[in-house]
Amino acid sequence: GGWLGMLGGGQLGRMFCHAAQSLGYKVAVLDPADECPAGMVADLHIQAAYDDEAGLARLAQTCQAVTTEFENVPADSLRTLATRCRVSPAGDAVAIVQDRIAEKTFIASQCIPVAPHAAIRNAADLRAAPEALFPGILKVARLGYDGKGQARINTRDEALAAFADFGGVACVLEALMPLDYEISVVLARGFDGASVVFPVARNVHVDGILAVSTAAPVQQDAAHAERQAQATQAAQTIAQGLGYHGVLCVEFFVLKDGSLIVNEIAPRPHNSGHYTMDACITSQFEQQARAMAGLPLGSSSLLAPAIMLNILGDIWYASATATTQREPDWAAALAVPSAKLHLYGKQEARRGRKMGHITVVASTLEQAREDATRVAAVLGMQAPE
Ligand code: ATP
Ligand code: MG
Ligand code: MG
Repeated sequence: GGWLGMLGGGQLGRMFCHAAQSLGYKVAVLDPADECPAGMVADLHIQAAYDDEAGLARLAQTCQAVTTEFENVPADSLRTLATRCRVSPAGDAVAIVQDRIAEKTFIASQCIPVAPHAAIRNAADLRAAPEALFPGILKVARLGYDGKGQARINTRDEALAAFADFGGVACVLEALMPLDYEISVVLARGFDGASVVFPVARNVHVDGILAVSTAAPVQQDAAHAERQAQATQAAQTIAQGLGYHGVLCVEFFVLKDGSLIVNEIAPRPHNSGHYTMDACITSQFEQQARAMAGLPLGSSSLLAPAIMLNILGDIWYASATATTQREPDWAAALAVPSAKLHLYGKQEARRGRKMGHITVVASTLEQAREDATRVAAVLGMQAPE
């Protein structure tokens, strides 16, 4: 028992609270909002800005260990906390992954491939960028998520316009890569340096937002199994290289030619790891609590094939043009017995806003696909591919 602390009050913090509370801990959440998904279920909600001295001091006083669910938390807040209590991940690790330029430089330094890219700090950098980066994607270096702060550009002129549009903040220009599919690896690494890796998830994004994650036992397909092993190894190299403590996710692209590159790192549990709550012995949130508390990490074994469907605010609307909202028919979705519903307690459903997710767990991947398709149909969501 005792108290664990969480910087950030979103759904990742909420699911952490549930996991930590199940292990017998009380949780203090620091978040500026007066009502937030994690604050509602925490044992203590410290309503303060992420860099508020008094708020951070109270969090450190209350808790034996603190973590974060928000990758844009000020790295200095983590460093300040670390002078008073145990913190995972460290501010230095978070500082690297919250800046796409530093992140890509770090990954490449570990001899792991990333997309061809250039740091863009001013218009001159764009004019000098190699021709091979067009067509490409211009991404703001900091604070982007769910595809926000990104522009797909065909030409240098379009890139200059997009850069001006972003207000001239530091960006990276990446070549648009020929993706075959996307995968991700979540892992937990304890203070003793031991790590536990979760099964690889295969992810489908729609409009830059994760829509579907699938986890299944390693495929018979040799090429696919080889990708999974490579991704797992790369994630461990990254965690080790960062001297990382806590839960981390690495997003990968598998390219048309079969090669594997890293897209980005998230210094926290990840949307593509939500399936672990229902399909693994230990969830990614329980690992986060165990790692910070200095407990042994649990087994990450997959109990059965699983498909997670994200629930966005869009399904509160009957159509793309509708302006009135209605609550989705949860009972109809739960009539599929393998479906597990997780809602995040958000008051307002907005288009593109993550409101919850559903995971179906079945004895075969085919059955999981069938069940997920039924769930998607009754909720008016796009069917998983
Ligand atoms: P997240 O919510 O995962 O943090 P983000 O805003 O950081 O999202 P990215 O992960 O960089 O955005 O990109 C979102 C999606 O856009 C990717 O999952 C992929 O589908 C596509 N994408 C990003 N970069 C590239 C690229 N260089 N080439 C092709 N597709 C890309
Ligand atoms: Mg990101
Ligand atoms: Mg991403």
